[in-house]
Amino acid sequence: MYFFREGTSGQTALAPKVQPPNIVVILTDDQGYADVGFHGSKDIRTPNIDRIANNGVVCTEGYVSYAVCGPSRAGLLTGRYQDRFGFGRNPLMAPNDPAMGLPLTEETIADLLKKANYSTAVMGKWHLGAHPTLHPNRRGFDEFYGFLSGGHQYFPENLTLKDLSEVKAQFDAYRTKLLHNTKRVEEKEYLTDALSREAIRFIRKKKDSPFFLYLAYNAPHAPLQATEKYLSRYPEIKDPRRRTYAAMVSAVDDGVGGILNTLEELKIDRNTIVFFLSDNGGPTPDNASSNAPLRGKKSDFFEGGIRVPFAVQWPGKIPAGTRYNNPVISLDIFATAAALANVQPKNELDGVNLMPFLTGQNKGFPHDYLYWRNFDQQKWAVRSRNEKMITQPNTDFLFQIKADIGEKNNLAEKDSKTLNGLKSKAIQWNRKLLDPAFLGLSQDKEYSQSHPDRYQVVEDF
Ligand code: CA
Repeated sequence: MYFFREGTSGQTALAPKVQPPNIVVILTDDQGYADVGFHGSKDIRTPNIDRIANNGVVCTEGYVSYAVCGPSRAGLLTGRYQDRFGFGRNPLMAPNDPAMGLPLTEETIADLLKKANYSTAVMGKWHLGAHPTLHPNRRGFDEFYGFLSGGHQYFPENLTLKDLSEVKAQFDAYRTKLLHNTKRVEEKEYLTDALSREAIRFIRKKKDSPFFLYLAYNAPHAPLQATEKYLSRYPEIKDPRRRTYAAMVSAVDDGVGGILNTLEELKIDRNTIVFFLSDNGGPTPDNASSNAPLRGKKSDFFEGGIRVPFAVQWPGKIPAGTRYNNPVISLDIFATAAALANVQPKNELDGVNLMPFLTGQNKGFPHDYLYWRNFDQQKWAVRSRNEKMITQPNTDFLFQIKADIGEKNNLAEKDSKTLNGLKSKAIQWNRKLLDPAFLGLSQDKEYSQSHPDRYQVVEDF
């Protein structure tokens, strides 16, 4: 692309305009660490997700900022530890509560990139508030196709509620018809396929402008639902739940393939950075996922809750087929986007620009420490370069995490000096944090009692 600008001599010259890269973030939901080909999955095949790894880098120690959906997404989309702004719980479905979701003090990655003239879209799960003031179209996204709740039914025939006014209980929202911006639509496809289709449509439409696409699949989050097209790929998996989960991951994988093919066909793949990650670890009993060899599961601060499949491609910029073994976190995506788009964030960030690290230019560590807090359980975790500490009432854990990926050997009693050092880091960090600003999923009943009109829809578009 060319435009006219003043040369140093004062003459108008034809000069190439350096366009910042397109940015694509593909987020899966509750996918286990083990359940991608690039981590050696034995039963689930993800050839397209693996293409991202082969085209770029696997971050083997890729973390998210929380062990369940909502707070993890709030961190991802703001580049900040979500407890800094009171997002310490999974929000409830409460369309008339403007405080139930991402506070307006926060700048989203889409708000940020709008300042650099990006076209922006979110396809899939929002989960950052259902009040009109918190709608994706008000949070920097030009386009939204998906749902506001924390999960959804996958088969179109199950989408029987015409809008949120028909929601009478928290999980009813899973049955609402999908939204295209603020309008309800009649979707005909299996949800994962629909989200892939919309993502590809957006890329085609915006191929000439820098764009930001946040493709937030709810798969493979429960309910376990897959079509025969995907189930038929796994006749050998005997456990019907694991088979359905595998099929759901396979549907995502097809979508990822469609997106990569589209970028290549349009010849914009070399000007597009693609991130792939899961929002938290697999909830192994709920969706038959696997976090092997990690200990624990979704909602834990063991690695199985917070370490996720994480890969990044940018052909020509990030060396292909590499592995990056220092800890990185989902919060880094925002900071990387800000650097690539050359735009100043509104708020102080906790992430860092990953590009110098992923290209090998900077051999250091992106972070000296990473932090987690579960306010309701009064639990903290701190990751240093080689160690990890978890502290909760009456129990401490300390692991040499680099050497003990499965967190088998608790050194808390043996090495109290290291333990206390990491605890003091948590105490310092905690001073920057706010108490949760809203009641969460585990306080559903209490919230309904104090907010009897919680499902009342506010019409203000
Ligand atoms: Ca999740």
